[in-house]
Amino acid sequence: MMTKEPLHNLTLASFHEGLLAKRFSALEMTQAHFDRIEAHNPEINAYLSVARNEAERQAEAVDVAVARDEAVGPLAGAPLAIKDCILVKGLPATAASKILEEYVASYDAGVIGRLKDEQAVFLGKTNLDEFAMGGSTENSAFGPTKNPRDLTRVAGGSSGGSVAAVAAHLAVAALGTDTGGSIRLPSSFCGTVGMSPTYGAVSRSGVIAMASSLDQVGPITKTVEDAAVLFNAIRGHDPLDATSAATAYDERELLSPDFKKTKQLVIGLPKEYFTDGMEPEVRLEVAKSVERLKALGFSFKEISLPHTKYALSVYYIIVPAEVSSNLARFDGIRYAAPAKAVHADNLTDLYFKNRGAGFGAEAKRRIILGTFVLSSGYYDAYYEKAQRVRALIRREFEDAFKGVDVMLTPVAPMRAFKIGARADDPLSMYLADVLAIPAKLGGFPAISIPTKPAAELAPDELPVGFQLIGRKWREADILGIGRLYEK
Ligand code: GLN
Repeated sequence: MMTKEPLHNLTLASFHEGLLAKRFSALEMTQAHFDRIEAHNPEINAYLSVARNEAERQAEAVDVAVARDEAVGPLAGAPLAIKDCILVKGLPATAASKILEEYVASYDAGVIGRLKDEQAVFLGKTNLDEFAMGGSTENSAFGPTKNPRDLTRVAGGSSGGSVAAVAAHLAVAALGTDTGGSIRLPSSFCGTVGMSPTYGAVSRSGVIAMASSLDQVGPITKTVEDAAVLFNAIRGHDPLDATSAATAYDERELLSPDFKKTKQLVIGLPKEYFTDGMEPEVRLEVAKSVERLKALGFSFKEISLPHTKYALSVYYIIVPAEVSSNLARFDGIRYAAPAKAVHADNLTDLYFKNRGAGFGAEAKRRIILGTFVLSSGYYDAYYEKAQRVRALIRREFEDAFKGVDVMLTPVAPMRAFKIGARADDPLSMYLADVLAIPAKLGGFPAISIPTKPAAELAPDELPVGFQLIGRKWREADILGIGRLYEK
């Protein structure tokens, strides 16, 4: 079954079609990706660990099914990369932290169970900012991930490893997590499609928690069409996640939208998202995308979301509060012994030493800040007030969605920056997500779509993504517009 087709260039959709037509096997597809991982991962550092034997066995099982002409789903045999904060039974799950360096997952995350039912193949686990805290993947305890388009630049974060894997064709698609931009920001920086689903659409069971009221797992893909396929496979109610919702989606609408209906959607342009601080290239590329959509027949409306300016501050009170609580369970005793045995005089001393050595600077910063905003006397002044403003921001979105169906904004005010450029200045790193955070505070779905395909970028040109934000449970709207755009 040898073929000249460069298998690593396939999308989920074209792989599935070729697999059914028996132009190549799932094993060949998986091996082609491991060849590329061997060649390019040492430089890019997208994967923290790979699972070659397991992956090849998964692929072979699909080949047997195809040979017997058994029905297989759209993800059967598809080689995927999984962010290392999502548990895959038997594989490491470090969350890019020293404190989990030795941890091996003892069960599958809800999303992984669904993908196993679909017979997907797991190539390995990808790099991230420690516990998904960061915007560049430089907060990883295991070194930064480099941007495949320019190795001197960051891939973005925190799902930098998953995004770089897809952008460099080291995986056909990937899973990331998005709390305040971690799927969309790196997607914008590297030129992939990345979606943060409606809060509650996808199970968080088996996902190492950062900020539970915001974390969502989402697809990272080469096309919007693939994003729909992967989202459709992972979504759905999970009794093991109390916040996962049983909302019904129309699968047909998600997978094969009626484009005539899609074109009737009204797109809002919130003026607060087009600020002076933006890089001129970002402004220009996003403006061109608006023009292309107008040419396709979409109507636009300028809108205003005046509370946008509070979103970043609100986020950086609520998130550290949740982080300080979620990371309390890592004491260096449970989950895995720390890599280096420490000498301790008593139990408290042991906790202090393990946590002191196990957590990186950003994790410690948020634990301290979060403990502070939750402490009695400050709770009302900070945490409770932040929750009230969060409610205002959500309501403002809901009101705006009475006049428009979807909103279009840039994903980030900048393109991929140089490695090291913001690493010593947490506040400038936080600013990278200023346009990605507000939608999350209200639980709305949002997607990053490259303004142009990688093939159309000049050799030294950096990718830019535009963001579509939809009503809750209306991923079909943002996916539908995205598919029309990419056609
Ligand atoms: N950069 C943001 C943060 O550090 C978002 C991270 C994320 O979405 N996981 O909190």
